[in-house]
Amino acid sequence: MDEFSLIKKYFAPLAVAYGGSLNLTDDAAIVDVPVGKQLVITKDAISAGQHFIGNEDAALVAKKLLRVNLSDLASMGAAPLCYFLAVMLSKDTEESWVARFAEGLKEDQQRYGISLAGGDTIAVNGALSFSVTAVGSVDSGKALRRSNAKVGDKIYVSGTIGDGAFGLRVLQHELHIAREEAHFLEQRYLLPEPRTALGQKLHGIANACMDVSDGLVQDLSHICSASKLGADIHRHLIPISKPVRTLVEEKPKRWDVVTGGGDDYELLFTVSPAKSSLLAAIANEVGIALTCIGEMRAGEGVSVFDENKKPLAVAKGFLHF
Ligand code: ADP
Ligand code: MG
Repeated sequence: MDEFSLIKKYFAPLAVAYGGSLNLTDDAAIVDVPVGKQLVITKDAISAGQHFIGNEDAALVAKKLLRVNLSDLASMGAAPLCYFLAVMLSKDTEESWVARFAEGLKEDQQRYGISLAGGDTIAVNGALSFSVTAVGSVDSGKALRRSNAKVGDKIYVSGTIGDGAFGLRVLQHELHIAREEAHFLEQRYLLPEPRTALGQKLHGIANACMDVSDGLVQDLSHICSASKLGADIHRHLIPISKPVRTLVEEKPKRWDVVTGGGDDYELLFTVSPAKSSLLAAIANEVGIALTCIGEMRAGEGVSVFDENKKPLAVAKGFLHF
């Protein structure tokens, strides 16, 4: 399984839809920048043993890698254009694994309207690793940033929060729940849904935006520091799925997983009160709930309150329970 036959057999078919890829037959790709647009570029790398186990379905590994990059594009309000893929094969990588990996990419390329444009393929002494660089476009000067939140802005999240973190705990056998709920939570961890359409609809509406990958409170603190503001959020307003509701009702301490756990890849954004009435229509168009969980204020840091407006001590970072 040499480099050139791998590229030809598995990766070139993923590049046919993107003319600038030159079908991976030249030294580099040519990317047209549409008039009046800027490119938004992001990169994520994963390694066996660190970010995936190695014995799971390779298609899932591929999809998650592509999706976390798409989520970064979504959080900047960018439309996906193309991506570049580095494949670092370890000595014991089976060709069938690469084939399945490419199948996963193919499915998600169709789902999210993005194409492979280039990359590199090498053999390494260490663990099987991959990296994706995703390229998107936005109207010049219009990318959504973390730094533009204003005092009084309402803070919104898309979808539900906490599913990914509980899903990881189910996969790690730390949490034992009914099969159906376990499956739902696992899928939310393994196959996050980048909010691609939503991100592009937030132009002219969201003042600040990012995706939730490290945990709600921690990620909101990034908007706070970038915008030089503080934030108040109300824990009972955080949208949670039915399985997560059951879990937190069973053990309220588990709320810390909702506020602190990561891997949701939902969008977290702020909107001036005057524009918040526009969100119901957007939620309807994209078919995703958009929920107000608090507001930006002067000061710094994130404060979390309970339904009686009492401040809660919230654990940060990775949590065991
Ligand atoms: P170089 O020798 O300069 O590293 P290669 O011969 O590796 O170049 O690459 C030839 C072409 O194949 C380039 O267009 C490159 O972008 C593409 N390519 C190589 N590996 C991959 C990959 N894993 N995915 C997509 N394109 C790839
Ligand atoms: Mg090369």
